[in-house]
Amino acid sequence: MSPTPSTNAPNSLPTATVSHKGARRWDSGHPWIYRSDLITGRADDLTDASAHPAGIVSVIDNRGKPLGSALWSPASEISLRLLDRDPSASIDNAWWHSHIGRAIARRAAIAPHANAYRLVHGEGDGLPSLIVDRYDRWLVVQLMSAGLETQRDSILAALQAHLLPEGILARNDVALRNKEKLPVGVELLAGTVPQEVEVVEHGVRYLAAPWTGQKTGAFLDQRENRAFIGERARGRALDCFSYHGSFALHLARRADHVTALDSSAHALSRAKENVDRNGFDNVTLVEANAFDWLKAHERDAYDTIVLDPPAFAKTKPTLPSAIRGYKEVNLRAMRMLAPGGLLFTASCSFHLTKPLFLEMLQAAAADSGRRLALREIRGQPLDHPEVLTIPETGYIKGALVEALD
Ligand code: SAH
Repeated sequence: MSPTPSTNAPNSLPTATVSHKGARRWDSGHPWIYRSDLITGRADDLTDASAHPAGIVSVIDNRGKPLGSALWSPASEISLRLLDRDPSASIDNAWWHSHIGRAIARRAAIAPHANAYRLVHGEGDGLPSLIVDRYDRWLVVQLMSAGLETQRDSILAALQAHLLPEGILARNDVALRNKEKLPVGVELLAGTVPQEVEVVEHGVRYLAAPWTGQKTGAFLDQRENRAFIGERARGRALDCFSYHGSFALHLARRADHVTALDSSAHALSRAKENVDRNGFDNVTLVEANAFDWLKAHERDAYDTIVLDPPAFAKTKPTLPSAIRGYKEVNLRAMRMLAPGGLLFTASCSFHLTKPLFLEMLQAAAADSGRRLALREIRGQPLDHPEVLTIPETGYIKGALVEALD
C-alpha cells in the first residue's frame, strides 16, 4: 500500500458548501448533490472549474457543519457524489482498498455458481459512478465521473491487491462520460484482456465479449432471472430479444424445443456459438423483428416464453410510446401462452417504474382475454443492489406470469 496522499487528508481539501436542500438529500440516503444545490459566490465556492479541477472535496452545510467527503465534478450537473459521511476520513488508497474489499466480500455467495458478476454497482455499493464487473480472471471497469477518474490509480491498486486479475479493461465508451467532459472510449488499463471470455452461469456456458459486447460484455444483471425461468421451463419455449442466447440456453436444458429470436444477425451468430458450446440440438435461431414475428405467429402456442427487450424508454419523454411497445409484446406473448404456460417478462427501462411495469402488465392481461396469474415479481440480483433511497440504482423489473386456462 502506498502512503496516504497528503492532498486527500480532509483538512487540506477544497471545501464545497451545499444548501439546506442539498444537505437534506444526503441525510435521506441519496449520494448526489446537484449544481443548483451548491452555494456559490463564497470564499469556498468551487464553481470556478479552472481553480478547482475534479477530485475529492470536503463538504459543509450552509452553517459550516462538516458533512463528509465527496467526488467533485466541475462540468457535470451532478456536482458532488458522497463518498464518506465521516468528515475525518481520508479518501486515500486504504479507503478505496477497504470499500472495494467490502463490495467484493458481499458477492462471495455467487462464485460457486457463476464466474461472471458485478463486483461494484456504483451508488448501490456506496462507490458512486464506479462499475466493476468480473469475467472469470479479468475485470471490466467503468469510471463514470470526473471526480472518480482522478481516483483511477487507487481504484486499480485496490482491484489488483484484492483480485490479482490477469487484465483490467475500461469500457469507458459510455455517453455519460460526455456530461463529465471525459474522453469516451475503450482502454486497456492493465495486463491483457481477451476478445472472448467463457462465462459459466448455473451450469450454462456462454461467451462474453468484454471489448465489444453490450454493457461490459454481457447482461450480468439478468443472471439469476435466467436460472429462475430455466428451472421452470418446459415444452415449446420462446426467447424474444435473445441477444447472445443467454436465456435460451437456460430454457434449452428443460424445454423440448427453444426458438431464440433477435433482430441482430451478429447477436444470433454469437447465440449459435453458445448453443453449440453447450451441445444443445433443440434451439432454433430466428432473425426477425419481435413485433412483426409475434404478430405473424399469433396462432402459435408456447409453454414457456421469455421477453427481455432492450430499454424502450431511454428518456422520460419516450415513456408513453415505450409503454405502448411493452404492452404490445406482452399482450401478444400472453395470447400465445398454452394453458398452464409461463411467461417471464422483464423491463430494464429505468423510467418504467415498478408500478408502471405492473400497470402495463395488467393492461396487457385485460386485453388478452386470458386469465393470468402474477406468480412472482422479480428484481435485481445480489450483485446489482438496488438501494431503496437511490432510485437510480434500480432498473430491472421482472414478472413470472402463468396462464391459468
Ligand atoms: N436477453 C438478453 C439481453 C437482451 S438485449 C440477455 O439476457 O443476455 C436486447 C436484444 O434485443 C438485443 O440483442 C437487440 O438486438 C434485440 N432487439 C432490439 N430490438 C429488437 C426487435 N424489435 N426485435 C427483436 N430483437 C430486438
